[in-house]
Amino acid sequence: MFIRFAPLFLLLCCGLTMLSAQKIQTIQSSISPKKMGLTLIHEHVFLDWSGAEKTKPESWNNDSAVTVILPYLRAVQKYGVKTILECTPNHIGRNPKLLARLADSTGLQFLSNTGYYGARGDHHVPASAYSETVEQIAERWLDEFKNGIDGTSIRPGFIKIGVDGDSTLSEIDATIVRAAALAHLRSGLTIVAHTGPDPLALRQVEILEQASVALNAWVWTHAQHGTDPTRTALAKKGAWISLDGLGWVDPAERGGDSTALMNYVKAIEALKLAGCLRRVLLSHDAGWYTHGVPGGGRFQPYTLIFTHLLPVLRERGFSEKEIELMLVKNPQEAFKIRVRTQRK
Ligand SMILES: [Zn+2]
Repeated sequence: MFIRFAPLFLLLCCGLTMLSAQKIQTIQSSISPKKMGLTLIHEHVFLDWSGAEKTKPESWNNDSAVTVILPYLRAVQKYGVKTILECTPNHIGRNPKLLARLADSTGLQFLSNTGYYGARGDHHVPASAYSETVEQIAERWLDEFKNGIDGTSIRPGFIKIGVDGDSTLSEIDATIVRAAALAHLRSGLTIVAHTGPDPLALRQVEILEQASVALNAWVWTHAQHGTDPTRTALAKKGAWISLDGLGWVDPAERGGDSTALMNYVKAIEALKLAGCLRRVLLSHDAGWYTHGVPGGGRFQPYTLIFTHLLPVLRERGFSEKEIELMLVKNPQEAFKIRVRTQRK
C-alpha cells in the first residue's frame, strides 16, 4: 500500500518543501510573502561614500541617524507601507544595526542585502574581489546568507550589485554579475542590479542566460534610464523592471505635469499597453542619511509615489488593482526566495 502511494507522498512532501522555501527574508525573520503588504522595493537609510577600504562602521553615528530618519519612516507608514527593501550595499554604508533599531522603533519590516557595487568607477569594490574567483566571491555572499551580516544574525533578503560604463561591462563588473548568478543558483535570492541604460542591461542578460538564470530572478534597477522597447522586450522575457528614482523628481517640478514625473507615467503606461504591468516595480531610491555630512545632509522623503505619482495614474485610468499589483503583489513575487533557472 505504502509503495503504491509512495510517489504521491513524495510529490506532496517535495511540493510542501518548495512552498515553505518560498519565503521573504526580512532582517528579523523569514516571513510569508503575503505578510510583506505595501512595499517600497528600493530605498536607502544610510550611506558612507568613503570607499571600500576606508569605511569605518565604528565611526557611524547611528543615534543621529535614527533621529533624522524616524520621522520620514513614520510619514511613509501613514500611507500604509509595511516593508522597505534597503538597497545600500556592503562597503557603501550597509548598516544592519541601524536597520534593526529602525525596525524596532517603527514596526516596519526591512530587507537587507549581500553583494558588491561595481558602479561609480568601482570605488566601492573591495580589493579582495580583484584576486578572487567568481566562486570565491559568491561564497562570501552565501556565507552572509547562511550566517549573517557584519557579525550580526541579520541575513540578507536579496543580492544587490551594481555595474556602470557606457555600453560594455568592465572585467570586475562582469565578474560581479557572474558571482550574482552563481549566488542566486545556490540560494534563490533575487538579484537587484544597479544598471541604468539599455546596453548594460542587455550585457547582464547575456551573462545570466549563459549561467541559465531565469530573468525573473533579476531586477533591472534604475530602468527609468532605459528605453520603452528594451524595457518591454526584457519584461516579456520575465525581467523585473524597476522604475525607482521617484524620490529625486525635482520638488520644484512636483505636480500634475512635471516632465520628470511624466516620464515615469509614460514608461508605466507603455509597459501597461504591452501587457507587462505584472513585471513593474516602483520606488523612490530616497533617504540617504550620509556619513560625514553634518546631520546626514539633505534627506529625501519616501512619499512622492503616494502624494504625486498615484494621483496621476488614477486620473489616467489606472485601477486600484493595477496599483496594488505594482506595490504589493509584484514585490511578493519578485523577492520570494527560490531558484529560478531557464528552461533549455
Ligand atoms: Zn539606490
